[in-house]
Amino acid sequence: MTFSSHNPPLVLIADDDKVVRVCLRQAMEQDGYQVIEAVDGENCLAMFSKMQPDVVLIDAVMPHMDGFTCCQQIQKMEQHLEGNGTPLLMITSLDDEESVQQAFSSGASDFVTKPIHWAVLRQRVKHLLNQVRLYEQLQSANQELKRLATSDGLTQVANRRRFDEYLQQEWNRMQRDRLSLSLVMCDIDFFKVYNDTYGHQEGDDCLKKVAKVLDRAAKRSIDLAARYGGEEFAIILPNTDLQGATRVAKNIQDALREIDIPHSGSKIGENLTLSMGVASTTPSPMINPEMLISAADRALYQAKEAGRDRFCTFTP
Ligand SMILES: [Mg+2]
Repeated sequence: MTFSSHNPPLVLIADDDKVVRVCLRQAMEQDGYQVIEAVDGENCLAMFSKMQPDVVLIDAVMPHMDGFTCCQQIQKMEQHLEGNGTPLLMITSLDDEESVQQAFSSGASDFVTKPIHWAVLRQRVKHLLNQVRLYEQLQSANQELKRLATSDGLTQVANRRRFDEYLQQEWNRMQRDRLSLSLVMCDIDFFKVYNDTYGHQEGDDCLKKVAKVLDRAAKRSIDLAARYGGEEFAIILPNTDLQGATRVAKNIQDALREIDIPHSGSKIGENLTLSMGVASTTPSPMINPEMLISAADRALYQAKEAGRDRFCTFTP
């Protein structure tokens, strides 16, 4: 999670010297930032957690709590809040090696020395804010990449890769907790005929609608609906026994009837239908996820053989 940054950026100034605070405020306001002030370290922590500034300028020497301790405390607070690492610019009176070392080891991102060289200070603040912005852009690009890599481009449900990964993950988790894991495999009946009758664009729309139905049926956050391939979909249901999984299959059937997609080419009715195979097991080292998939596949095959538009169950 990232803190929502302010626009214009919010600068927190912590300094016990009122004259310095006024000068810092002027410089920051000239650069178009919003400014809030703290008079010592403790006050700085309180303002920080209340206002979540985008950058903090901290005087190294303050009563009650010095700037170094303040830096450390802010970082602790951010770990707790899963914050992003707000840049902390330390303002030290000395630029001796020890003070500089102490500033960085306390977690300061950068430092300037007193008397303040204003152009330097302003450039450093600007630079730190830029870095934060770039980091946030990078993070959101990463999230988008991850979403693209794990979802099916057409239907927006999970893709096959995500399905495999999640099945293994939940297999391990259910094995550890000795809980049931269920799988529903779904196949659209006479989909090839559907495409031939209505064209591929309609066929794509149909896949999207079915995916939506399945995604809704995968109600809990731990359930996962995925496009398994072509017109085949699958739903992973952790901590769900066969009975629970058949209820999900029944819900899918009902929901599909309700949205009522015409399928004039179907050999078993007027509307689009699904065949489903439901399988459930309690994972153990003796079996593997592939066996659950073949059990669900076998049940799906039975559903097809028995006339489609139905679900069958199989327990490996
Ligand atoms: Mg001071």
